Amino acid sequence: NDLHDLVRRAIRSVPDWPKPGVTFRDITPVLQDPRAFRVLIDLFVYRYMRQRLDLVAGIDARGFIVGSVLAYELNLGFVPVRKQGKLPSRTVSESYVLEYGNATVEMHADAVRTGQRVLLVDDLIATGGTMLAGIKLLQRLGANVVEAAAVIDLPELGGSRAIAATGTPLYTVCQFG
Ligand code: IMP
Repeated sequence: NDLHDLVRRAIRSVPDWPKPGVTFRDITPVLQDPRAFRVLIDLFVYRYMRQRLDLVAGIDARGFIVGSVLAYELNLGFVPVRKQGKLPSRTVSESYVLEYGNATVEMHADAVRTGQRVLLVDDLIATGGTMLAGIKLLQRLGANVVEAAAVIDLPELGGSRAIAATGTPLYTVCQFG
């Protein structure tokens, strides 16, 4: 609808970045525009305000921006899912395969309690590897991942299908082909 379109139109597509042939979908113009930023957050707020969540988790780094504002608006706590080596206390980690090499995400072991209802947020779903690693990490800590949410889905890369196949619902505000 109109509001999803307003957000979609504010996203910048940068050709050949970070390498030739890849188009990077950049949400910084959404964040920079107070109206688009508010619409984006409000779309999430209206979706989740009646869902009895306990916590919002956000993925390093753009998932922090959207996730922390959303947590604040929903009166919930926020926990970061960080890149390796950034968290000071005891951590649990989950590695996953990228196109070239590996990546690891980490959370503090005491960041969630068993049975807590958690929403996991990131900016974009490509292959889904990052979001799937975040979901696994939360589940290993005993969380009930009620839904995964992102601003953008790139459905042709298969990530949203892979996430749906695990049984965790996925919500995205807009898609790019
Ligand atoms: P995936 O793990 O392949 O699904 O890639 C998603 C992760 O890479 C997310 O954390 C995104 O922030 C980042 N990412 C991949 N492609 C893009 C893009 O075009 N724009 C913004 N972030 C991207």
